[in-house]
Amino acid sequence: MNILIFGPPGSGKSTHSRTIVERYGLTYISSGDMIRAEISAGTELGREMARYIERGDLIPDTVVNTLIISRLRRHRRNFIIDGYPRTAEQVLALENYLYDHGLSIDVALEIFISKEESIERISGRRICPRCGAVYHLKYRPPKVPGKCDVCGADLIQRDDDRPEIVARRYDLYIKNMEPIIKFYRKQGVYVRVDGHDSIEGVWERIRPLLDYISARESPSRERP
Ligand SMILES: [Zn+2]
Repeated sequence: MNILIFGPPGSGKSTHSRTIVERYGLTYISSGDMIRAEISAGTELGREMARYIERGDLIPDTVVNTLIISRLRRHRRNFIIDGYPRTAEQVLALENYLYDHGLSIDVALEIFISKEESIERISGRRICPRCGAVYHLKYRPPKVPGKCDVCGADLIQRDDDRPEIVARRYDLYIKNMEPIIKFYRKQGVYVRVDGHDSIEGVWERIRPLLDYISARESPSRERP
């Protein structure tokens, strides 16, 4: 089973990706994780990507494609890709690779939340600058307002999590993803899941779909 997963900021797609990886034994390919890993390993590709980021530029499609496709070459099938493809050029590179290897995407899964929900979820986040603990004003408040439960330091909000920045990230996501969603909808593999619910509630919408596809591939394998 080959899956693409995407969603606006705060959709919970990373959490669900982890559950999917565990349940169906897939390889998790996250463009964000891979970019961070290359940069911290200081590879040639990592140094090149770091230069773009330092300048505030987007990493070019050719570089991102090289990174993702080389990972796919090692794993071939049964993967879930998070954060890719994000542009028409990336879709082309991925689809060409899959076609050449007799593979295809089974589901392009979008966990969708509204802009209001996205802003509420992300802008309520507070982190501890000393120990890295993460809180949420509504969903996971600290015992003493503004103070870390673990070490007592003053909690802060990351710049990226400010409402106006989240709103911009959300709009950019919608704009970038529109043609990509259109493409996968035409392919008949696009599924939008309503993400306005608890983690468990959203998972109960995703699970039956993936169980079905997974059973279709390997009918002998029963799942509880
Ligand atoms: Zn702390």
